[in-house]
Amino acid sequence: MIADSFKHKGLRKALVEEIGRKGITDKAVLDAIGAIPRHIFLDSSLDNIAYQDKALPIGCDQTISQPFTVAFQTQLLDLKPNEKVLEIGTGSGYQTSVLCEMKARVFTIERHKPLYVRAKSVLQLMKYNAKCYFGDGYKGLPSYAPFDKIIITCGAKSIPSDLVAQLKIGGFLIIPIGEQTQEMYRITKKTDSELIKEKFGDFKFVPMLNNKES
Ligand code: SAH
Repeated sequence: MIADSFKHKGLRKALVEEIGRKGITDKAVLDAIGAIPRHIFLDSSLDNIAYQDKALPIGCDQTISQPFTVAFQTQLLDLKPNEKVLEIGTGSGYQTSVLCEMKARVFTIERHKPLYVRAKSVLQLMKYNAKCYFGDGYKGLPSYAPFDKIIITCGAKSIPSDLVAQLKIGGFLIIPIGEQTQEMYRITKKTDSELIKEKFGDFKFVPMLNNKES
């Protein structure tokens, strides 16, 4: 059962107002944040701080992204209903649920087994039918390509070419690029050989790692 108390609902409403003040204007994104019980994606010991606009620990040395960051990346995705979206870095599954709530068809990849297992079961409990995969996000999911959009929720050193190859022409990738801190990019695949790159400010993410790194 999902315990979503009046207290949680009140804190969530305040969070939606806060990220609105910080610059999120897309009503569908704000509605999704307002609808989803973020505390369900976290350990119950974090219940009291689940609706602060902060990244929080989720185990395996990883974090659930700050709600403002989740909203910012989702707003940049400019989702249309039924679009096929690939997410790299399932983590807690919270960003995944925001994409599902906005009617995207979501495929998501996580490289830490315990996080993959937990996110998959929370998403099932909440009746979101995202397709969860355990594996290396750098490789994407070639057998399900092409995707309308791709969202990367960890900091990449560069643009992964396998992921660009799995995008539709006209589709785009939302990707934080950098080592200590990252700049948010929207990379549009104009043709097979031409990418348009736009920048949207500085953020801080856990790193996107390949299989040999820990
Ligand atoms: N979207 C998540 C954010 C989690 S943090 C949420 O809402 O909770 C980023 C996640 O990316 C971490 O769980 C990390 O393990 C994962 N990650 C890092 N490199 C990866 C890779 N190469 N493939 C798949 N997942 C990766």
